[in-house]
Amino acid sequence: MSRRIGLFGGSFDPIHYGHLAIAEEARVTLKLDRVLFVPAARQPLKGGLHGALPPQRLAMAQAACAPNLAFEVSPIELERPGPSYSVVTLEALHRSDPGEYFFVLGADAASDLGRWYAAERLIELARIVVVERPGAAADREQLIRTFPRLADRLLAIEGPRLDISSTLLRQRVAAGKSIRYLTPDPVVEYIFEHGLYQS
Ligand code: ATP
Ligand code: MG
Repeated sequence: MSRRIGLFGGSFDPIHYGHLAIAEEARVTLKLDRVLFVPAARQPLKGGLHGALPPQRLAMAQAACAPNLAFEVSPIELERPGPSYSVVTLEALHRSDPGEYFFVLGADAASDLGRWYAAERLIELARIVVVERPGAAADREQLIRTFPRLADRLLAIEGPRLDISSTLLRQRVAAGKSIRYLTPDPVVEYIFEHGLYQS
């Protein structure tokens, strides 16, 4: 039986309970064997203004994912030079770790899909899983108009709709507010030990 693997990319600057909750929702709903978290070297659509260094984002993701045996963090995009194109990552993963891939995205990221590098190819390499996010709506019909191939490759799952973002965490740290209970304790500790996101 081929393995079902979730692929969840992002800046994870820092990782938070919104990320962890939708990855878990995808794992259970789609009966995934594993969910692979892949921190991006540089978000091609975002520019470069981020607080934490790539190895710090990786370390925080690892700390957050450690208690879940089905969660894994891959440094694949951090080890590769240049911007992180998901399609390149998926091609490499299909070679090194064959399986059935499910590419997990929040609704805000999904509505950007039309601007992604080689999106058509991405859709061939993985089924696309869109998870709800407060303040963002992914228009399924619109996406399918743009990518007809998505008609039988697009899965929508209901998430717990946690209104948490990395931006919120960075802003709260900079403002001296608590981020406890927005991300696991080891991530909170890492942020303070390394003096991240201070204004
Ligand atoms: P930032 O505020 O820096 O953009 P973020 O919280 O959006 O950070 P990213 O690393 O940009 O986190 O997102 C990675 C993926 O996780 C994206 O697909 C995004 O849509 C999804 N995501 C992040 N937070 C949530 C959330 N609270 N609910 C649902 N999806 C989320
Ligand atoms: Mg984001």
